[in-house]
Amino acid sequence: MSNDPRAIQNATATATDNAPSGGRLRADAPCPCGGALPATSPRGDREGKSPTLPPRYADCCGRYIDRGDSAPSALELMRSRYTAYTLNAFDYLRATWDPATCPADLGADDHADHDIDRHTRRRDANPDHGVTPRWLGLDIRSHWIDDDTHQRVEFVARYKVGGRAHRLHEISRFSLAHVSDDRAAPRWRYIDGDLLES
Ligand SMILES: [Zn+2]
Repeated sequence: MSNDPRAIQNATATATDNAPSGGRLRADAPCPCGGALPATSPRGDREGKSPTLPPRYADCCGRYIDRGDSAPSALELMRSRYTAYTLNAFDYLRATWDPATCPADLGADDHADHDIDRHTRRRDANPDHGVTPRWLGLDIRSHWIDDDTHQRVEFVARYKVGGRAHRLHEISRFSLAHVSDDRAAPRWRYIDGDLLES
């Protein structure tokens, strides 16, 4: 990839088009999450804007999806799960989802829309199921630290299904817990979320 910023920006919009199903992005591809940051930090002071240019995938979500690094907070984990959706990386989505709430058939077929329908509880409202969604971008609204092992992230993810644009606006809950087969440090995992109308 060129180092020309314009080329990077142009590539952002089409990064997901270049990702093979279930595959990964090149290390120097712009990260699909865009490095999104909340406007307000957990302590209430301004945290700054999201970067104008997205970080490299290898420096952002690729650390967690491909290298197995532990996300330092629910914020990084949420971004990496968004990126995993753009990559159809269901193994990563399952590994970062509380087993008590993770759908048993997550990614069981190639139609990621089934999972999104379930995730958004919009199956009845979405006549376009059967077409894989195209993720368009992520905005992080808020990041709350509730206690040492519980955090929440409010986000808006935009996607298209069958040519129609949709918005997923959710407050997701995350917990820091030991993974059953992991004797190392505990890891952040997604529990569930509340949908917001916006
Ligand atoms: Zn990222």
